[in-house]
Amino acid sequence: MGLISGLIKAAISVVPAAIGVQKDIAELEMEDEKLQQQEQAREHEKQMMKAQIKLAKIQQKSGKNAGNKSQVGSAKTRLCTQCNSENDSEYNYCFWCGNKLK
Ligand SMILES: [Zn+2]
Repeated sequence: MGLISGLIKAAISVVPAAIGVQKDIAELEMEDEKLQQQEQAREHEKQMMKAQIKLAKIQQKSGKNAGNKSQVGSAKTRLCTQCNSENDSEYNYCFWCGNKLK
């Protein structure tokens, strides 16, 4: 035992690259597994983020289409000069107060 460990120590001191080889292989494999799990977790996180971004974009888009009221000066809305409400550009009269839209 003492001779072997002595030889290993000698090998380590002679070849610095051997230090990595002398490391407990089981430990390395465990570390490897950990790294792989982290990688998977990161990948999962990435996928989640992508999905969230996609969802946000979809919500943004549908918000643009459905939320004409919040978009002042949009080509699809007409601002009533009397009550300042926004109306669909197709309307000739204000939906809210009946004022004629220009
Ligand atoms: Zn109006």
